[in-house]
Amino acid sequence: MSGRCCPGCGAKPIAAYRLFCPPCEGRAPKKMQEALSAARARLDRATAEVADWLRTHPKVTRRELEVIELVSHGLENADIAARLHVSEETVKSTLRDVGQRWGCRGRGSRAQIVATAFRLGYLQTTRTEQAI
Ligand SMILES: [Zn+2]
Repeated sequence: MSGRCCPGCGAKPIAAYRLFCPPCEGRAPKKMQEALSAARARLDRATAEVADWLRTHPKVTRRELEVIELVSHGLENADIAARLHVSEETVKSTLRDVGQRWGCRGRGSRAQIVATAFRLGYLQTTRTEQAI
């Protein structure tokens, strides 16, 4: 239950994604009821999609993403370390961890990590341009 009230009668706290209380919704025009249930169905679908995405995509931390983003711009480990105020060893181990989790190994693992980050939607062209 949320603290919001029904816009129809102003009473009773109503559930997070319910706009009207059940009696008011029952009195609402059919068109509005259809719009409400369609919106609810869309929200349910979107929630399921997000849950699915979270379940199936390899996780990445904010710091890992910062490192990957800088790698994507061609920075060397020393430059990345300087920019993020961490040691070069931290940059290396961060990339090693991500590489292991994402299955990017050996020569070309940096490029694989960057490609994977883009493919999974962790990096986007516009966001990358803004961050740099
Ligand atoms: Zn009401």
